[in-house]
Amino acid sequence: LGSLADQVAVALRNALAHLEIYQTLKKLQEVDQLKSELINTVSHELRTPLASVLGFAELLLKKPPGEAKAQKYIATIYHESQRLTNLINNFLDLQRIENGRLDFTKKSVDLEPLLQSSAEIYRKQSQAHAITVEVETGLPPVLTDPDRVLQIIGNLLSNAIKYSPQGGPIRLKAIRRGAASVQVSVADQGLGIPKEARDQIFKPFYRVDNSERRQIGGTGLGLAICRRMVEILGGEIWFESEPGKGSVFHFTLPLAESPAASPLHANGGK
Ligand code: ADP
Repeated sequence: LGSLADQVAVALRNALAHLEIYQTLKKLQEVDQLKSELINTVSHELRTPLASVLGFAELLLKKPPGEAKAQKYIATIYHESQRLTNLINNFLDLQRIENGRLDFTKKSVDLEPLLQSSAEIYRKQSQAHAITVEVETGLPPVLTDPDRVLQIIGNLLSNAIKYSPQGGPIRLKAIRRGAASVQVSVADQGLGIPKEARDQIFKPFYRVDNSERRQIGGTGLGLAICRRMVEILGGEIWFESEPGKGSVFHFTLPLAESPAASPLHANGGK
């Protein structure tokens, strides 16, 4: 009887070991698939601007064109290189955020100049979109990391431009919200967000895939980065949208002088 019990115990142990190996293998397979998806997306997005940089550099090298043409080629090389840099930075940022290795240095920040300079940068990128800035009079400063806020607004403005392919107004706005925060909004009159995509839009690598936006480049990382950054900065992000009419993205930031955020209160009112 003893030996039968031993045999059962050995068989059970073997079965458990197999199950464990099977589960580990399954997990590895899932990780592997995620990695391939990531590599596919990133490599596709890297190849397109790189091909353009190589093509125009080759043209310049082979037979120097007239000055006007050369300027055009160089401008394209410059913009495509910028696109590549953005993509790589976005990808690395998301990685660093997920690993808790991205620095957030908060201080008291006046939003108006920050919004103005964001708008100015994106006005240069697109003449087809009239970008306006409205800041509520007397808006108090927020406690935040200005570089990260620039990045969040930059991602939202760049989407507003990309997904309004016919051009149109884009409004960047900041107002007081409740007792302790400020709300920043970016409104466009572009393609809008289909109902079935609403729950997915902030997930990494998620992109709306339909015929009207297949030509628009992107990685699906922009909004995922925005959401993580806003959360770390102590705010919330959400959107309203009507397909075919446009979208408004909103996020909040805590006020510098709100009772909960003030360092004066944090160390006992010293
Ligand atoms: P990307 O723009 O690189 O695809 P994002 O994470 O910034 O990635 O956006 C995810 C998806 O959400 C986009 O593919 C796009 O379809 C949709 N989207 C984002 N912003 C807008 C907008 N302002 N108007 C319409 N669709 C948008």
